[in-house]
Amino acid sequence: DKREIAVPAKTKEILARHGFTLKKSLGQNFLTEPNILHKIVEVADITPASNVIEVGPGIGALTEHLAQNAAQVLAFEIDGRLLPILADTLQEYTNVMIRNQDVLQTDLVQISQENFTQQLPIKVVANLPYYITTPIMMHFLESALPVAEMIVMVQKEVAERINAEPGTKAYGSLSIAVQYYMETEISFIVPKTVFVPQPNVDSAILKLTRRSYPKVRVSNEQAFFELVKSAFQLRRKTLWNNLQHHYGKDPAMKSWLQTSLTQAGIDPSRRGETLSLEEFAQLSNTMEENK
Ligand code: SAM
Repeated sequence: DKREIAVPAKTKEILARHGFTLKKSLGQNFLTEPNILHKIVEVADITPASNVIEVGPGIGALTEHLAQNAAQVLAFEIDGRLLPILADTLQEYTNVMIRNQDVLQTDLVQISQENFTQQLPIKVVANLPYYITTPIMMHFLESALPVAEMIVMVQKEVAERINAEPGTKAYGSLSIAVQYYMETEISFIVPKTVFVPQPNVDSAILKLTRRSYPKVRVSNEQAFFELVKSAFQLRRKTLWNNLQHHYGKDPAMKSWLQTSLTQAGIDPSRRGETLSLEEFAQLSNTMEENK
């Protein structure tokens, strides 16, 4: 059967043959549109000069295309019921390694060293399970694994948040957390109609490319991300309200915050969503100096 796995009739047949029932709680919305898969592989520019990590291969619809183009593919699938199915659908590919693991529980550096036989740039390509999109992305970004690119399908609204500019409604701590490490781009929108079962919202392919250095220089990364989170805690409040809410209202704290804001040249009556990454970095570094 030479049809692609994603052809709707073939997906149906595979699911029926194995008596597989989709689990909503695991974000199992399978792609059944070969054209979208071709576009993903094209955007990701997968060649034998790259290794790929996939999260959630499902029945292998995307995995098959990755295997045809990459050096090696390492895929993490949490649902053990899919392993015999993948062994069947991907039997002709010798460069695919499936691990029955929760991707969030994996040591990405160690498992990559153990599985990839060649040292090549690593790309993460996945149609992500939407209930844990952000934790999965942060797991990769915060790991020491040098991921060159991430080409991931996420909910359209999440893609817009990650790609957002300061001063827009979508801009928030997630935009900053991702843009700190990666250049962001929305490659194309994917309608909800190409999934089985159909989700409630449209999706988008998000392309993230690793920066040589983080976008801004901060003296203490942990303190920087703490500041960013605190600035967005109470959405319609000013920076000053949010900072006091998070760091405390006693006179010493207030004076520390006030001095740092003044020195960083940031008006405390602004709202967090108007600050650029550079301004957050400036403020965080000043706060560290004044500690
Ligand atoms: N790649 C397939 C496709 O495009 O049709 C399936 C994508 S489906 C949106 C998400 C997949 O991620 C499911 O197969 C699900 O079982 C798997 N998954 C969910 N949580 C996971 C986790 N924590 N670690 C690894 N895989 C997970």
